[in-house]
Parts: sequence; C-alpha cells; structure tokens
Amino acid sequence: MKKTNEPKVLIIGAGLGGLALAQGLIKSGFDVAVFERDESPTSRPQGYRISIRALGINAFSALLTPEKLSRLSIAKVKDVGDGFTCANEKMEPFFSVSQGQDAAVQFLRSELRNLLQEGVTIEWNKRLVMFEDKDNQVTAYFEDGSCVIGDLLVGCDGGGSIIRELLPSVYGNSLGSIPKVIDSNRAIFGGQIDRTSQWDMLLPLNKTGLVRFLGLHAHYMGVCFSERADRSPTVFWAFSEEIQDRNAPWYQFDRGLECRRRILDHCKQLLAHECWHENLKKLVFDTPAEAIMAPWLVRTTQFPDSNRFPMVPSGRVTLLGDAAHAMPTEKGLGGNNVLEDARLLSALLANSPEPIDWHGFIERYEREMFARAKIAVRESEGAAEYFLSLRTRS
Ligand SMILES: Cc1cc2nc3c(=O)[nH]c(=O)nc-3n(C[C@H](O)[C@H](O)[C@H](O)COP(=O)(O)OP(=O)(O)OC[C@H]3O[C@@H](n4cnc5c(N)ncnc54)[C@H](O)[C@@H]3O)c2cc1C
Repeated sequence: MKKTNEPKVLIIGAGLGGLALAQGLIKSGFDVAVFERDESPTSRPQGYRISIRALGINAFSALLTPEKLSRLSIAKVKDVGDGFTCANEKMEPFFSVSQGQDAAVQFLRSELRNLLQEGVTIEWNKRLVMFEDKDNQVTAYFEDGSCVIGDLLVGCDGGGSIIRELLPSVYGNSLGSIPKVIDSNRAIFGGQIDRTSQWDMLLPLNKTGLVRFLGLHAHYMGVCFSERADRSPTVFWAFSEEIQDRNAPWYQFDRGLECRRRILDHCKQLLAHECWHENLKKLVFDTPAEAIMAPWLVRTTQFPDSNRFPMVPSGRVTLLGDAAHAMPTEKGLGGNNVLEDARLLSALLANSPEPIDWHGFIERYEREMFARAKIAVRESEGAAEYFLSLRTRS
C-alpha cells in the first residue's frame, strides 16, 4: 500500500540494477521515477543470457512480489545446461563442473528485463547530464532540457556512470571515498547463429553448459547455447583478446552492417592464424555479419583505502550496480551483486524510521555494499588471471 509523504527516489538507468531497485521500492510503497537514456525498450539488444546464482536469486525473492516471483522461471533459458567447462582451443577439457556454481540458473536477459519493467514507469530518451544537491533535495537535469526533483538520486547508470564522474566537481573536498572504474586491457566480441542439431553434435562439451575455450596469446572463446528474444534457440560465442590499439577499426561500433563485418573479419583473422578446433572456426565463419554484437570493453574497479561513507555529505546521492563496482565477467558475479545492491538499498530504506536519516541510511548501504563489492571484484580479477595462467601452463 502507498504510504503518505513517501520520499521520491530518482533512479537513473533502466538496466538490471535500476529496474530491480524500482521493483523493490515499489513493493514497499515508495514513489519511484526511472529515467533511461535509450530511446525505447527495444532500441538496444539486451545481450544473451545471464547466470544468476543464490545471491541474485535470494535478492529477487526479496525484491519481487510473490506473483512476479512465481513467473521468474519463464525467463529461464531452456535446455542449455547450468554447468561450466574449461577447455583448450582444440576442445580438450581442463575441467568440468556439471552443476552451476552456487546453484546458478541461466536467464534470458530480454525476458528478465520484460518482467522487471512490469509496473515500473520508465521515462525513455532521458539522458542525465547534471545533478544538483541542495536544500534537502536533489535535482536531476536531462539532455532534453527537462529536470526533476526528488529526495534521493541513485546512479544505476552502468560502468561508465556519469553520476559517479560528476561527484568530484559537485562536492569537491567534502566528497567521501569513491570508486574508480577503469577499462581493463580486454575486449570481447560476440555473435550468434541458429542452434541446430548439427551444432549440438559439433559442440559436445556444451551439453552441460557454458564452455570457455582458452587459446594462445591470451585469446579465449566462450560458447554457450542460448535463445534470442523471440525464444528461438541459438549458439552464442564470444571471443576475447587483449586490446592492442583502442582505435583499431574493429572497436568502432555504429550499429551498421559494415562495422559488424569488420568485427567478424577481425575474429576470423585471429582464429585462422591459430590452432583452433575446426568446429570453433566453423562457428565463427558461419556466423552472419548482422548477428555480430557491439564489442564489450571489460572494466574493473579500484577502491580507495579509506572508508569515508556516505560518499556525499547529504547522503542523497549514491551509486548502485556497475556504476559502483564494474568487474571482469569471469566469475559471473557482476549482475548478482547488482541485484544484491538493489535488495540491500530497498530493505534499508523500507526499514528506516521517519523522518529518514539520509546520511545514516546511505552510510550503512554504502559500507555494506562496497565491502561485498570489493571481494567480488577481487575474486573476478583473480579468476581472470587464473584462466590465463591455465593456458600458459599447459
Ligand atoms: C559478456 C558479459 C557477460 C556477463 N555475464 C554475467 C553473468 O553471467 N552473471 C552475472 O551476474 N553478471 C554477468 N555480467 C555482468 C552484468 O551483466 C552486469 O553487472 C549488469 O548487467 C550491470 O547492470 P547495471 O544495471 O548496473 O548496469 P547496466 O546494465 O549497464 O545499465 C545501465 C543503464 O543505465 C543507462 N544509462 C547510462 N547512462 C545514462 C544516463 N546518463 N542517463 C540515463 N540513463 C543512462 C544505460 O543505457 C543502461 O540501460 C556479464 C557482463 C558481460 C559484459
């Protein structure tokens, strides 16, 4: 039930974190407004699948209404296995885990987003460009010249968060400990192709789930069965390399077919000159250029030694998800931590006595969130190094 005089929470970004937070706060009766820079829900493909383990599933249980929670299983990807195998580029396995680590379940990102959008009013085409924090309220300013006032501003705007980047100029010396999200030296190129019985035969290791094929020169290829947004089965591959030149043509992406072709050609070149198994080469060579996705530039986070929280003196502006703690993808921990951030912030706000002590409430949120995130980032970086060492040693 909606409470009277509920604070208004401004959420910037309708990704996994922003939508999960909106669900949790709406469930507790808060007034929530979500702003997203994308023009519409369909203007950008949502990627393929995401592995959610116990941490994320527990967060969903707290954030979603029982009715929505009962429909969460609709978003699971069917018949793709929850396990993990690590192999070399010749498809010879190093090790295999048949069950997903920590009860991991594979969800289709587009379907998850559909569910998380339900009941949330999202204002599309609203790119935040500035904010102000004064007189016990926050004002978010958008590129289209509009603005909105609220009690709390939550930056769920991803690894490249503008809110995080604006903090030093808005607060100067009074700023507490803020994370620094940095580009790692890795990029990931991805594509997909229709899943047929032939691919099931050619990729036997994939029966139990995701396979990471480790090649020479710190190259690796992740391959998994998945589904498109229309639920048609696909084989998804992602090729990763160390970035030599950030200005190389295959890192320039404008959604056009020509740039997708450049990326595909680059991957073909890399595979052709190394000893990759014929079936893996075929996977890339058979992929149509239009099925190539925008390259991902892997990010990680450096945290300051000090723990001065809340980050901003008023406690009225904070960060959630990748905006606070982007991490390498190796352990599949990023999204799980995003969901846990949303659960934590929602629970603390719902349990805050009135009048809300913003400083105290956000201090508790940030202290707990950053302590957990630091461990997750460290584990993810460790896993990335481990995989590289595995191939170098063999
Ligand atoms: C290849 C890959 C595989 C992964 N696999 C897994 C996995 O298996 N398990 C797992 O747990 N995690 C995984 N992750 C990590 C996970 O996807 C992320 O941690 C998670 O999606 C981040 O969610 P977010 O809401 O914080 O940010 P995002 O999803 O990046 O959302 C940010 C949103 O903010 C919007 N935005 C940005 N700037 C503005 C602005 N100025 N104004 C308004 N809106 C703005 C963006 O358009 C976007 O919609 C993977 C990541 C990658 C790249």
